Amino acid sequence: MTYDYLIVGAGLAGCVLAERLANESQRTVLLVEQREHIAGNAYDVRNEEGLFIQRYGPHIFHTKSKRVWDYLSRFTTWNGYTHRVLAQVGDRQVPLPISLATMERLFDRPFTAEQLAAYFEQRRVERSTIENARDVVVSQVGEELYELFFKNYTKKQWGLYPEQLAPEVTKRLPVRFDRDTRYFDDPYQGLPEEGFTAMVERMLESPSITLRLGTDYAQVAGCESYRRAIYTGPIDAFFDYALGRLPYRHLRFRFETLSAKQFQDVGVVNYPNEHDYTRITEFKHLYLQSHPKTTICYEYSGVEGTPCYPIPTPANRRLYDAYRARANELDNVHFVGRLAQYEYLNMDQVVERALDLFDWIRTSD
Ligand SMILES: Cc1cc2nc3c(=O)[nH]c(=O)nc-3n(C[C@H](O)[C@H](O)[C@H](O)COP(=O)(O)OP(=O)(O)OC[C@H]3O[C@@H](n4cnc5c(N)ncnc54)[C@H](O)[C@@H]3O)c2cc1C
Repeated sequence: MTYDYLIVGAGLAGCVLAERLANESQRTVLLVEQREHIAGNAYDVRNEEGLFIQRYGPHIFHTKSKRVWDYLSRFTTWNGYTHRVLAQVGDRQVPLPISLATMERLFDRPFTAEQLAAYFEQRRVERSTIENARDVVVSQVGEELYELFFKNYTKKQWGLYPEQLAPEVTKRLPVRFDRDTRYFDDPYQGLPEEGFTAMVERMLESPSITLRLGTDYAQVAGCESYRRAIYTGPIDAFFDYALGRLPYRHLRFRFETLSAKQFQDVGVVNYPNEHDYTRITEFKHLYLQSHPKTTICYEYSGVEGTPCYPIPTPANRRLYDAYRARANELDNVHFVGRLAQYEYLNMDQVVERALDLFDWIRTSD
């Protein structure tokens, strides 16, 4: 049989496109995934204790886009979870992003919005040009908060100090002049009530979609017949690394199940300074699960594990652009998603790009 589309990768990008092409355009789709599961890095599953875990680190859906929210809401209801993050600083845990609540817990005194503005004004370090990620931080909040929250966390996360990283890594610091302790201020946020994997399963229910797990692109290229392809894997792998490898920062996850109802007060606690892990996630907060036990996950950043974060240096950008130029020469292959576009993208951005690509395909196919 000749499929209308081969889709490589059953993460969100691949699954949104499979769903749209099958259900909206009545196309036949062969969807191949090298792992033994769907949902890509958003994959979640119940462990042997019946507790939800996310194998590739904490994933919380949040978006400003009603279009994306409405689209995904066809396949799931949402659990209403609001994400909160604490940072362990010395002997106390304080909310992130930095707000009046953070400053009050850190310095044991009340802060008003005016006092916080004055605090920044006195400590901001003037920079005529912003040349690196350190400049971004110290020019907004000063050296003291830089040392407490950013310096060592960045070193742990990237293996480099902020002054060695491009300003884009930090972009703008979200600082709040109120006591809002939500991590994201997007109007739509939460987790799918039955998990991301169940949501994605529903997207793939059409009989026009043939899903093959444990199947690499290399196993079907040249063997299966299809008219067009959508590739959501690493762009450098598609071209057999002909121009070199695009580097990633990798993550390693260590899970522990404890005979305790609760380990920490919120879903994620960051460790900017102490310990070699960057953060600990306790999943039952995210899934609003009640259970006599709890599963936590220590997250380590390094050069081994799952490739997670593209490293944003000008040289890597140039290498990606060179691959992109090759990709643009191919008429019948589309590249979309975090690996194919070598860009850190949140789930809502990936869904939006997949929907945009579908709209484009629909008018041109
Ligand atoms: C630690 C971490 C935490 C995150 N937290 C959040 C969060 O809280 N909120 C949020 O919105 N986003 C979060 N993200 C981002 C989120 O993971 C991505 O937006 C999303 O997974 C991207 O979907 P994708 O389909 O582009 O890629 P992926 O999910 O990576 O899916 C691509 C799929 O392609 C498969 N594949 C690759 N090559 C081949 C091949 N040759 N043959 C067959 N299959 C192949 C892979 O196995 C993979 O399953 C986080 C990311 C990380 C790393």
